[in-house]
Amino acid sequence: MNDNCIFCKIVAGLIPSKKVYEDDDFLAFDDINPAAPVHVLVIPKLHLESLADCEGAHEDLVGRLCGLAPRIARERGVGYDGPDGTSGFKAMFNTGRGGGQEVYHLHLHVLGGPRPWKPR
Ligand code: 5GP
Ligand code: ZN
Repeated sequence: MNDNCIFCKIVAGLIPSKKVYEDDDFLAFDDINPAAPVHVLVIPKLHLESLADCEGAHEDLVGRLCGLAPRIARERGVGYDGPDGTSGFKAMFNTGRGGGQEVYHLHLHVLGGPRPWKPR
């Protein structure tokens, strides 16, 4: 755990969150400032700063993290059913200042639901 990290504190239960999913390695919770009707953050419990830190040893972890996105989207009613334009979700890693990252604990944004969405 990184003592200065908001998301490590959420993992530790020191900051409350609306949990959507949890297992030994990952946690998913609602974004506090949602940009879409469904906006979930999926994080590894391990503190990694950003996607740029995920090479080699962390590829399996990142793969499993990505694999949770469709499952969580489906559970929240925005799963992908086909190219009909009425379903599906956006999965996004903001990486570094240039990528718009504000919290430096790796997280995957999962966004979905009826538009318009808030510009961010
Ligand atoms: P980033 O810009 O780093 O990709 O996204 C960070 C996200 O974390 C933002 O969408 C922001 O609303 C969310 N966030 C920041 N602090 C908290 C918090 O304490 N709790 C929750 N649930 N979300 C947070
Ligand atoms: Zn952290």
